[in-house]
Amino acid sequence: MQKFCTGGDCLNILQKLYDICFPLPTVCPVCMKRQPRLQVCDSCRAEALRKRSLMGQCHRCHSFGVFSEQCRSCRDWPDYLAGNVAVWPHQDGWQQAILDFKFRNMPWLSEALAAELAPVLPKEYDLLVPVPLHPKRFQERGYNQSELLAKALSEQMGIPWQNSLSRIRHTPHQTGMNREERLKNLDGAFAMHPKATVTGKRVILVDDVFTTGTTIQQCARVLYQHGAVEIMGATLASGQGRF
Ligand SMILES: [Zn+2]
Ligand SMILES: [Zn+2]
Repeated sequence: MQKFCTGGDCLNILQKLYDICFPLPTVCPVCMKRQPRLQVCDSCRAEALRKRSLMGQCHRCHSFGVFSEQCRSCRDWPDYLAGNVAVWPHQDGWQQAILDFKFRNMPWLSEALAAELAPVLPKEYDLLVPVPLHPKRFQERGYNQSELLAKALSEQMGIPWQNSLSRIRHTPHQTGMNREERLKNLDGAFAMHPKATVTGKRVILVDDVFTTGTTIQQCARVLYQHGAVEIMGATLASGQGRF
């Protein structure tokens, strides 16, 4: 009897053909030096670690340039927002890698970037939730970089992920805005997705960069109001803190 190709088989074969025709570059996304596979190289990882100890990081929000328990960026955070984890300073090759991932149509960087964050995130959380994009921006970009990161982290950490939040207001880009302007810009921008539930859950909120903490604060507030018991931010990089 003739054996027909099932839908799943065909998709797998097509994916393999695509991978052969368009292989991913085997480089380090930070320094672009050739590697055995697409991954951050040992030297860039060691340099990020060196920067973390040299520049200092706020213990709670991981802003760089701070040697204290709490800085002005996170001093007024509510108790349910436990903290934020960031592994890179938002500068040089690390910043470039995130710009490539986010704005230069390189969604395939997600797994290599998530691999830097997964080992240092707390394991006792229940759910990974990406910071959402407004549908208009999603259409422009074609993907949500935070969602791709959350998916990759989910696979690497064995914690489920869910698009629990929606962006209900289209807001201007925040580059160049100070903390107060950002707070005003994002006020009422996020809402719970009607089909999602976070009641009783400890949530890791995933974003690409931590700048002033306004995005994480606004998202965490919505999650808490809908029953999440604790929220921790997870970002690849963070900027300079406020003292
Ligand atoms: Zn490198
Ligand atoms: Zn802080």
